[in-house]
Amino acid sequence: MDLEAHEFQLDDLVERIKANDTRLVALQVPEGLKMQAFEMMDTIESETSARVVLSADPCYGACDLVHDKMKNIGVELVAHMGHSQMNIDSGMDTQFIPVTYNRSPEIAPVIPILNTHRDIAIQRVNNAIEPPSSEVEAVLKFEDMVGRVSPLTDSKLGLVGSIQHLHLLPTYKKYLEDAGFDVTIPVGGARLSFPGQVLGCNYSGDDPTVGHYLFLGSGDFHPIGLVMHTGKPLAMLDPYTDEASEMGRERIERILRQRSALIMSSMDKQRFGILIGSKPGQMRRNLAMRMKNKLKKHGKNAYLMAMEHVGPELIDFYPVDVFVNTACPRIAIDDAVKYDKPMITPYELEVVLGEKKWEDGYQFDEIH
Ligand code: SF4
Repeated sequence: MDLEAHEFQLDDLVERIKANDTRLVALQVPEGLKMQAFEMMDTIESETSARVVLSADPCYGACDLVHDKMKNIGVELVAHMGHSQMNIDSGMDTQFIPVTYNRSPEIAPVIPILNTHRDIAIQRVNNAIEPPSSEVEAVLKFEDMVGRVSPLTDSKLGLVGSIQHLHLLPTYKKYLEDAGFDVTIPVGGARLSFPGQVLGCNYSGDDPTVGHYLFLGSGDFHPIGLVMHTGKPLAMLDPYTDEASEMGRERIERILRQRSALIMSSMDKQRFGILIGSKPGQMRRNLAMRMKNKLKKHGKNAYLMAMEHVGPELIDFYPVDVFVNTACPRIAIDDAVKYDKPMITPYELEVVLGEKKWEDGYQFDEIH
């Protein structure tokens, strides 16, 4: 990764520190940028009279804001880097610091993939014109990559990205329109701050007019979630490597097979541990309570377990058979193999209990 091409916008932070005569600032930096943390601390300390303490715990999102525990060591302001504001209150004054990545990849390599995906979307839209004559036919006609019946009304290209690349979206929209695509930059719900933004747990900008997606960003974390949530074809263009690729159906099917196996192996189990994430943007107490009540109704034992960090070494030893995760949804999807016991999502628990049907298509666990 070319770290030099990242731009850190510290001006507003410096101004705020000076205006409020802030003494102690906690700096929170995402995992991928931690190597640059000391450099940023030097800059802030040289431009203001504040002292800076690094919040050195892992940080994977704005859901994970430093909260009021830091008040105990005298922190007055949190400087949170690289993520955008969410609809949560951490109990601390927080300044979000935008980080942008300034290299832009060529679109030519991704065009053949987008053409194929648009054809799939157009086919799905056209199939929808004739009403299906039976339920089986409806499933065949509208079945998406995760097996849901989800009719499309249009075949638009949805242009999305991860936070460091969102400033490029309007320019890429124009490039893609010039290349003949009907492009939309989806606008999501309150957990998302910007048009085209996606999180690992929120794809709320999706709607039936979008037939396929282009993701501008690196890695497969967001692409996997986007396809698991929407079931739609997805191309990827990586600004760090200039590479174009797609999220293949086989990859998604492999994840679905794993999810199905975890559901099957949880069916005859009796004791369930329900994890509640205590990070400000992951806390879903009511959902956890609902899951406990469901388990009780089905004659199972359920234990609520609140924790900030979730990891195998922290929970595997508890005498339960299955974990139901209501903290970050991606812990169950991406990290399941690290745990000795099945780790399932709330939707998957409903399948285990027979309250939802696997055959109706997979439901990705989102936080709104
Ligand atoms: S995917 Fe997980 S870490 Fe990322 S924002 Fe959502 S809850 Fe937080």
